[in-house]
Amino acid sequence: KAKAAGRNTATFFDPVMAEEMLDRHEIEVELRQASAEGTLQLYYQPIIDLRTQQVVTREALMRWSHPTRGMVPPGVFIPIAEQSGLIAGMGDWAIAQACLDAAKWPDGVGVSVNVSPLQFREPLRLVQTVKDALLAANLTPGRLTLEVTESLLIEDNKATLELINELRAIGIKFALDDFGTGYSSLAYLSTYPFSQVKIDQSFSRNVNADEASKAIIEAVCQLARRLSMNVVVEGIETEAQRMAVQLLGAQRAQGYLFGKPEPVSEFVKGESRKRA
Ligand code: C2E
Ligand code: MG
Ligand code: MG
Ligand code: MG
Repeated sequence: KAKAAGRNTATFFDPVMAEEMLDRHEIEVELRQASAEGTLQLYYQPIIDLRTQQVVTREALMRWSHPTRGMVPPGVFIPIAEQSGLIAGMGDWAIAQACLDAAKWPDGVGVSVNVSPLQFREPLRLVQTVKDALLAANLTPGRLTLEVTESLLIEDNKATLELINELRAIGIKFALDDFGTGYSSLAYLSTYPFSQVKIDQSFSRNVNADEASKAIIEAVCQLARRLSMNVVVEGIETEAQRMAVQLLGAQRAQGYLFGKPEPVSEFVKGESRKRA
């Protein structure tokens, strides 16, 4: 804040900012500890096929249950992990753990893992992490998808495309996450070999009130079909939204209507109940 005030104003001590910085630093120290002690968790949220209602993939979402702060949302701790360099180790762990978990699922569906753009800055490490994870879990590469956001692609360097292609050669897939937010460019869909595009939840939230959201969902679904990609509409919470996006051509969806993110023990229990 002091910086934003400009060159001609004297910097001053802002107690609110000081407290925020202290808080951030504390969170970083505690996050480093949690990561080292192995107390971070992965929850999983189903992605379902709208026609069959079957789970087709589960997305791994990182959870940090803090002893006094409670559940710290990834929207808070991921940026801190990125700024502090912790994301490298946390990201490796997420890929490895997700593969181990998926290998044990009774239904054999795929698993998606979110990957930070910073993990792409260490290509050798990312490739090694993926290979090690698949090998250790004995997971078929085709069951692993990495989710990336547009922020990775705006840098538009050849290295990113090469790395994606190298990982695809191993057999894993890529999804473009949160499509429609940020810098969405249709060119990303043709430049990069995504298997799946995930339409951001801001569009499904308004789908029954807003013609523009409808038009965008419909257009992206059509485009994706032409490019042989799957579409997932994120953030479906109501039956009305489900019906609307299905009519607009969506094949797959994710959202609280179908299932919230939960620890493995919860849905594996549910599965065996259903099967019994
Ligand atoms: P994302 O990858 O787009 O994940 C979807 C987010 O939407 C998740 O939030 C999920 O809990 C939430 N969500 C799912 N269905 C609904 C719904 O019906 N309604 C609403 N309101 N929300 C829904 P979450 O778990 O808080 O994660 C937030 C973001 O943090 C993720 O967005 C992802 O960008 C990031 N993140 C989470 N885990 C990881 C990770 O392991 N690595 C990295 N790099 N980022 C992660
Ligand atoms: Mg995601
Ligand atoms: Mg998303
Ligand atoms: Mg998101």
